Amino acid sequence: MFRYQRTLHNAIEFDGIGLHTGYPVHLQLTPAPENTGIVFRRTDLKNFEIEATRAHVARVSYATTLMKKGVMISTVEHLLSTLYGFGIDNLFLDINSMEVPIMDGSGKGFMDGIENCGIRKQNALREYLLIQEPIEVRHGDKVAGVYPASLPTATYIIDFEHGAIGRQQIDMELTPECYRNEIGTARTFGFVSDVEYLKKCGLIRGGSLENAIVLDDSGIVNRELRFPDEFVRHKLLDLLGDISLIGHPIIGHLYAEKAGHAIHAALADRIARGIRKQRVCTLPEFESALAVPKAG
Ligand SMILES: [Zn+2]
Repeated sequence: MFRYQRTLHNAIEFDGIGLHTGYPVHLQLTPAPENTGIVFRRTDLKNFEIEATRAHVARVSYATTLMKKGVMISTVEHLLSTLYGFGIDNLFLDINSMEVPIMDGSGKGFMDGIENCGIRKQNALREYLLIQEPIEVRHGDKVAGVYPASLPTATYIIDFEHGAIGRQQIDMELTPECYRNEIGTARTFGFVSDVEYLKKCGLIRGGSLENAIVLDDSGIVNRELRFPDEFVRHKLLDLLGDISLIGHPIIGHLYAEKAGHAIHAALADRIARGIRKQRVCTLPEFESALAVPKAG
């Protein structure tokens, strides 16, 4: 965990295409002052700003979309997850189109760029959200929750009938190193049987074997996986992107089972609405609360 807020040393640029729109897009990550948060700026719309917060979440089917005054930014979750995973608090995300580039379907391109550029410590203290009361959202057999814990940790469980996936579980401490090595490079995935329907809905126009793991009835079309359980790792990547919209790094245990963007967003919403039941504190405050034994 980091005591001080963080941004980048310099600006970094990325070119790619949107997964759903198929449009070419240019993205620049620009360092921002303390207490700015993560803010998208649409460079094609006079730098119109959309703060990456819960208040602007508009749609959560197949991807997470932000909208403010009718201006959208879609498929934000992998980029926001990378920033959350690396502990970056303040950044302008300058983008000339409505969808974040999909890169290779994971956070790898963003992580490589950020590591080459370097992360800069700022002067203001980070404010963590310390979970003091459990919060749980259930939709049928789908669950997402957060529980008190002394470190940021997470568990994700998926169970797909597809033979190449099955039941997978990951349990992690959430540090930038673990994120880098275990989560950030896990790619998104989809099923050939859904392709026709999604295309009819105007989705995945930029989708290909270059930016997703594709499964058909017989197995994995791409053949090579980055991890045997890459699927559940990617689901955790998505969860962290959606949870990042709360605006504070969480000290607690995140848990999700058979979940997706909609229930991730519902959990983020519940946490944000009940924020007074939890505790917002700096790391020195958290450490001194741990160190001082209660009187008596
Ligand atoms: Zn994803």
